[in-house]
Amino acid sequence: MGVWPTHRAPPRRPLLAIADAVHVAFASALAIALVWRMAMRATSGQLVPVVLGMLLGFLAADVASGLLHWWCDTYLAPTTPLLGPMIIAPFREHHEDPAALGRHHWLERNGNNCLAALPLLLLAFCTLRPWQSACAWHGVASGCLTAASITLGLTNQIHAWAHAENAPRLVRWLQRTGVLIAPERHALHHMGSRERAYAVVSGWSNRWLDRATPRVESALAHLGMRPSERGSAP
Ligand SMILES: [Zn+2]
Ligand SMILES: [Zn+2]
Repeated sequence: MGVWPTHRAPPRRPLLAIADAVHVAFASALAIALVWRMAMRATSGQLVPVVLGMLLGFLAADVASGLLHWWCDTYLAPTTPLLGPMIIAPFREHHEDPAALGRHHWLERNGNNCLAALPLLLLAFCTLRPWQSACAWHGVASGCLTAASITLGLTNQIHAWAHAENAPRLVRWLQRTGVLIAPERHALHHMGSRERAYAVVSGWSNRWLDRATPRVESALAHLGMRPSERGSAP
C-alpha cells in the first residue's frame, strides 16, 4: 500500500451529494427500463441472442473498467480541472485507505459510476426497441449494450464488495466462482505487485491489460505524455 501517495478526498460537498442521488436515480430508472425491454425481447424468440449479447457486454465492461481505472490512476491527478476533485481525489484516497470505500454512503459510492454510465444507458434507451427488429444480431447488440451500460454503472459497487468483510452471501459465491472479482485478485492492485489488476468487474481481462498498459504508456511517453504524480505502475 505504500506505493501510493497520501491523499484524502475532501468531504463530499452538498451539491455533489445531491448530484450523486440524481445520477443513481436516473441510471436506475434507465437500467430497469432496459432490463424490461430485454426480457420482452428474450421471451419473444430471441433468448439466445439476448443472453449471448449480455454475456459479451458483461465481459466488455470488465475491459472498460480496467482501461478507465488505468487512465485515471496514470494520467489524471486530484488537481485535474472538474474530474480531479470529483473522481480522482476519491481514487487516490482509496489507494491510501481502501476501507474508506466501505464507509462512504452508498449514493456517494455509486454516483460517479452512474454518471459515467449515463451516456451509454441513454444511448441504449434511445436506440433499442424490443419490437424493433427480429434480427438475431440486433438482439445480440441490444443485450451487449444493455449489459455493458448497467455493469459500468455498478462497477464501483462490485469493487467495494471486493473490499467488504461481510459482502452478501450471493456476492461471495459470485466472487468464488469468478463471475465477480475476488478480494484476493483485486488486492494485487493495492499491493503494488507486478500485476496491476486495474479491471474490477470480474478481472478476466487483467492478464491482457497488465501486458498492454505498460506498452501504451511507453508509446505515449514518446509522444511527450507523462504519467501524473502517481507515476507509472510498479
Ligand atoms: Zn487504482
Ligand atoms: Zn480497491
